[in-house]
Amino acid sequence: MAFPSIPDNKAEKCTQDSRQTLRASGMWSRILFFVGLFSLALGLEQVRYDNYKVYNVRIDDVEHYQLLSGQEKAFELNSWREARHPGDSSDVMLPPQYQEAFEDLLNKYNFTYKLKIDDVQPHIDAQRPKKRTGYMEWTQFHTLEEIYTWLDLIEQRYSDIVTPFTIGNSYEGRPIRGIKISFKEGNPAVFIESNIHAREWITSSTITYFIDELLVPRNPGVRDIAQNVDWYIIPVLNVDGFSYSHEVARLWRKSRLPSDPTGECIGTDLNRNFDFLWMLTGASDDPCSETYAGPSAESDPEIHQLTSYLNNSIPEGTIKIYISLHSYGQYVLSPWGHTAEEFPEHYPQMMHVAKGFSDALYRRYGTVFTYGSSATTLYEVSGSGKEWAYAVKGIKIPYTIELRDKGQLGFVLPPEDIIPVAREVTEGFVGMIAAAREVDIL
Ligand SMILES: [Zn+2]
Repeated sequence: MAFPSIPDNKAEKCTQDSRQTLRASGMWSRILFFVGLFSLALGLEQVRYDNYKVYNVRIDDVEHYQLLSGQEKAFELNSWREARHPGDSSDVMLPPQYQEAFEDLLNKYNFTYKLKIDDVQPHIDAQRPKKRTGYMEWTQFHTLEEIYTWLDLIEQRYSDIVTPFTIGNSYEGRPIRGIKISFKEGNPAVFIESNIHAREWITSSTITYFIDELLVPRNPGVRDIAQNVDWYIIPVLNVDGFSYSHEVARLWRKSRLPSDPTGECIGTDLNRNFDFLWMLTGASDDPCSETYAGPSAESDPEIHQLTSYLNNSIPEGTIKIYISLHSYGQYVLSPWGHTAEEFPEHYPQMMHVAKGFSDALYRRYGTVFTYGSSATTLYEVSGSGKEWAYAVKGIKIPYTIELRDKGQLGFVLPPEDIIPVAREVTEGFVGMIAAAREVDIL
């Protein structure tokens, strides 16, 4: 699908007087200079993905599945999206030296496949601005430092409605910051965590835009959900992985906790690390796997502190909807993740509200989001945030939302897509709240 042009946006954003003062001057070049020095000091060089290809491979049966998943190490295969049911397909990225042997294998075992991305590196280059503007305009993918400086500014500017919070520090010592937006007391609340997977940059871009919309609502629908709902939002949960994906390896997914006893591989899949049915299904005990669930439930400080914050710092029963924001695939996924045989008690409400989100989002640009339970729609998973939110915290509407696209560019969407994605998601949230009211969730 072609993305719509949005000629009015830049002017619209820039005429907002509140945005004018966000233009910090030479501060950014200084920050970037020091970030650069820091990377140099650590001897970090950016990983390149020249001639890496992304294949879309259909998985017809269990034999196919096992064959493909068995190649992770041999072909340095990086899973972008994994099929878990026959007939579904996986997106996998391979370095140039293994592509011929990989295609031979696919042909030998009668896989149906097609090339999705011929060369990953140019798309990554297109994601990195030649010159950083130094203020949030949603035409560039921003670093953690830029997002945090912007949080400082909005916390000051909108101190009557914005309450900053920090759930704690990451493994590498970065603060994990969030904000609560509340126009009045007594509102029901929505909790959103974003960028738990490091490489899913569109998620923090989208949610910061949404925060901006809530602070200065530009239409009655957004004004309503800003004023009558409280929003707890953590724009970047996996701060270490996110920084690493900016500074070193663009396609990094996991945390940076080194728990592999052999020292070979680093990081936990944080969305497999929650303490509900941890490691039951759709997670790996191999520290080198992209879906490694960690050495134990809540082993990673990012998750332990997130659940502690939800348990101890927000009044019980306040949070009505929990959202874990991801990319890609265009899905609204509900529990259960671990089984396709059973459905949770609140499944009808979950689907009603998911439909409200998807329909409203669709009306903006015609982007189709599919909704259903994780296990029936995509693949089985356990130990994820939305499952914990439902089963342990009793939050009746918990989703994993996978933003654009359907795999054409996956994690390497161009920056021009940020505003269209953020706008349709904003509309989606308006529809979500309206639908939640219809089934007495809010
Ligand atoms: Zn994800």
